[in-house]
Amino acid sequence: MFRSLLPLLVFSLCISASFAQNTSYFQQEVNYKINVQLDDENHEIRGNIEIEYINNAPNALNEIYMHLWPNAYKNAKTALAKQQLRLGNRFMFYALEKELGYIDELDFKVNDEKVEWAFDEEHIDIAKLNLQSPLASGESMIISTPFHVKIPSGKISRLGHIEQSYQMTQWYPKPAVYDNEGWHAMPYLNMGEFFSEYGSFDVSITLPKNYVVGATGDLQTETEMTFLNELAEKAGNQSDTYDNSFPASSKELKTIRFTQEKVHDFAWFADKRWMVRKGEIILPNSGRKVTSWAMFTPNSRTEWARAIEYINDATYYYSLWNGDYPYNQVTAVDGTISAGGGMEYPNVTVIGSAGSDLGLETVIVHEVGHNWFYGILGSNERTNAWMDEGLNSFNETRYFRTKYQDSLGFLEGMLPSKIRKLIDANNYPYQTTDLYAYMISAQNTEDQPMQCHSNDFTNTSYGTIVYKKTAVAMNYLMNSLGEERFDKAMQDYYEAWKYKHPAPKDLKRSLEQSTGKDLSWFFEEVVPSTKKTDYKLANAYTKKGQTIAVVKNKGEVGAPFQVVAYKDSAVVLDQWFEGLPPGDRGKLELNLMSDRVEIDPNWESLDYKRNNNAYRTDDLAGGIEPLSIKFLSGLDDPEKTQLFWAPLLAYNAQDEFMFGVNIHNATIPFKNTEFSLSPLYSFETERLNGFGRISHYRGKSAFHLQTQAFSYINDAFNKANYLRTGLTFTQDFNKRVGSNLESKMSLEMAHIYRAGESMIADDIVREFDGHSAQIKAQYQVSKTGWVNHQVLGTWRTYSRDIENEPFDNLNHYLELTYWGKTPYMKGHNIYWRVFAGAVLDEFSAYSLSSLGWTGNTDFTYDQLYLSRFNTSEDFLSRQIRGDQGGLYTNFGSNNLLSSARVDIELPKVKFISLFAGVAVRRTFETPILPSDVVGITLYETTFDTEMDVAAGFTVNLVKDALAVHIPLVTKAILNENADIAQGITFTFNIDKFNPFFLARNNLK
Ligand SMILES: [Zn+2]
Repeated sequence: MFRSLLPLLVFSLCISASFAQNTSYFQQEVNYKINVQLDDENHEIRGNIEIEYINNAPNALNEIYMHLWPNAYKNAKTALAKQQLRLGNRFMFYALEKELGYIDELDFKVNDEKVEWAFDEEHIDIAKLNLQSPLASGESMIISTPFHVKIPSGKISRLGHIEQSYQMTQWYPKPAVYDNEGWHAMPYLNMGEFFSEYGSFDVSITLPKNYVVGATGDLQTETEMTFLNELAEKAGNQSDTYDNSFPASSKELKTIRFTQEKVHDFAWFADKRWMVRKGEIILPNSGRKVTSWAMFTPNSRTEWARAIEYINDATYYYSLWNGDYPYNQVTAVDGTISAGGGMEYPNVTVIGSAGSDLGLETVIVHEVGHNWFYGILGSNERTNAWMDEGLNSFNETRYFRTKYQDSLGFLEGMLPSKIRKLIDANNYPYQTTDLYAYMISAQNTEDQPMQCHSNDFTNTSYGTIVYKKTAVAMNYLMNSLGEERFDKAMQDYYEAWKYKHPAPKDLKRSLEQSTGKDLSWFFEEVVPSTKKTDYKLANAYTKKGQTIAVVKNKGEVGAPFQVVAYKDSAVVLDQWFEGLPPGDRGKLELNLMSDRVEIDPNWESLDYKRNNNAYRTDDLAGGIEPLSIKFLSGLDDPEKTQLFWAPLLAYNAQDEFMFGVNIHNATIPFKNTEFSLSPLYSFETERLNGFGRISHYRGKSAFHLQTQAFSYINDAFNKANYLRTGLTFTQDFNKRVGSNLESKMSLEMAHIYRAGESMIADDIVREFDGHSAQIKAQYQVSKTGWVNHQVLGTWRTYSRDIENEPFDNLNHYLELTYWGKTPYMKGHNIYWRVFAGAVLDEFSAYSLSSLGWTGNTDFTYDQLYLSRFNTSEDFLSRQIRGDQGGLYTNFGSNNLLSSARVDIELPKVKFISLFAGVAVRRTFETPILPSDVVGITLYETTFDTEMDVAAGFTVNLVKDALAVHIPLVTKAILNENADIAQGITFTFNIDKFNPFFLARNNLK
């Protein structure tokens, strides 16, 4: 019931694109002629461009929107800079002038006449040309302008240079797409960057003679072709001494020319160090020959030794399945880009460092594959990213399964082999790489539909949903239709839509027409929503020579499903069935005997809950899973009940060293219900202590039942321990996807039992025990951006434990804390914090403190402390939680407390920060206790107001987890009532060392 909010909201935000108006299709034609010269001393290009614009729209045009995307790199106010900030990257905000880039010296003319034009008011990387006279339907015009581009640092995004290695992408003025939905003018963004008009390019580049250039199009310069061929011959027989430094640029310049038809973009890459390899592919359908090129730095020569094989195989398989590659050359270049592992442009792709052979093959195959899904089929990536990234990822996975004949395992080529071994990755087929990535988003964090605007995706979902869920979904579709029928349908789609802008409805129509099937389960349920598919094998038995299998659709989509029956481990039936409506049961009568029936045994579908997929007919236990016990952790194995264990050593000052074991069931992808138990035995107190937790996650809600038991006093005269049990409910509230505002609430009920003994006189031992309880409600709002803000409100009602008089006295506390954070120079921050708190009862069990709770004063027992018994010699009892007043001076109040503190990270030594703060309190004067005479009060309420200060420095040993606070100035120090050493405290947040806690939080 908590989950329902999210899908509804996301659904309504993301659906708009697929219901776009459906008027007749047309597309504009745009042909370019560009001359440009590279200045590799000042990192700039200068040249001129002539654009032939042919209006195929049924209407006349009064204006032309132009993309001037180098301006995305101009300052910290561009859409690119804002998107990067949202994703936590502040590079552009601190960038030096020389690291930024822009386009200028523009002087637009239409048919040689000056035209009035202006930058878009919001986006400086968009401009609008106001035509003197409208461009009629069917007419064409020539737009021309000189231009100059200051090339930004390659550390920002995809256009840029790292020293004299140049990546010239989105570098020239380019008309935005105009179609039956109108103009698609858009600022450059890192995610979802492509949507362009098709046409031809004729590009001449002038640069020093010793540059090697990889580019879109066919090279028309004979001498340059000879130069490349010579390099390709040399690469095979060079000595083993290599120099990766940049050679000086030739004084002599060369001009090289590329031409290409039927593409929507032109990119070029230039590097003087590159080595070159050359190959050839014979296309599977037409038998036509295509040349392949690999260009790489001497440093990468070993990693790139087989690059030509990868380029060729990718070109071959993508052609085989989708239709032949229509161009003459395919190139991959070794680049230093910041925006990710690789990037696609027509005919040419740029590849970052991959780390392993299979890793490089993965990136090259993916980027070369984009020639189909992006290059030839030019969908709008800004609104329908799944149609290129996702369809491409599907083909990429299919490539690796086909080429390596299903011998690869989970994350092969992407994860170091040692880690893969530890998690038994080879027991999971390669396709689980995609499926588990989808599951991570689907199960626990912000699930999003495949159909969503690129800028509305969270960073995690862009990978797990756009790429991976689509890959699984397309594989599901292929398997349900059969490979042959599916390939035919994809080839029909390719033929119908190549060099065009297909939308989701066009893919749907193509596939439905070709297969003759109604695919609404896919296009109307799987694509635009977060609905889950889950089939359960509810029962299976044999009867009169038949196998009866009862299948229930426990999911939300009426999707087809696959049933496989086995007899003595051999497959006796493998069949796909039409989908059942959600909630329905179906009885399948299979005319054969089998001992086991399974739904989707090879992980080919989106099935969300896989532990209900199998059933044995020859066993009373039916669907019960065998138990598996393993060390540490692993991947989710739906066919087993998994437990993991690890030895545990723990310490606190009262129990001293404790030995035990941690047992848990947490896996990747996460489970909805997780538990972790850590019994710990102390030889010092001879007690069994420990902690445990059961958590249940449901969308953005979670329930946690947590318990912990340790000693809190253990000295010669006193011994005591506690057992705390708490039930917490947390709810994250939906924010608009892509928004920087977040809020969450939590509600906790806890019970604390304390028991012990104390020696009150020689040989007289008094035993005691008591109960207390707490209800805590918290609400937190945070906003991230250039300045981060966070507000937390806490209400606490506490029933004080008086020995043998449980729940005697109720106390109420209200606390409000504000945190702020702003960067003041590259990577350094200023933090500030304001607190106000009140004890709402006159006689309260506990006070508010500027130190926050410590092991000694923490009556709520909800944290772990290294020591809970306060002795001034014991440094471990200086552990503070840093909540409440948050000022590092011992200053408490039984009535009102407020404080403010500023922390500044020191330049150069970021792990040291200076702090200064002030606290003001009003205390309720210690009253004369009520007289014994019932009904008469012999005191008066009086208040006293005081202030304290603290200034000093904090040493952050582990960020947000372990820090030591050293106040140099406090009132006590100034009054010589305390020395500096006595005021030192530390914070230690053990949650920050828990890998499951971290994984769950970081994957949001
Ligand atoms: Zn991609």
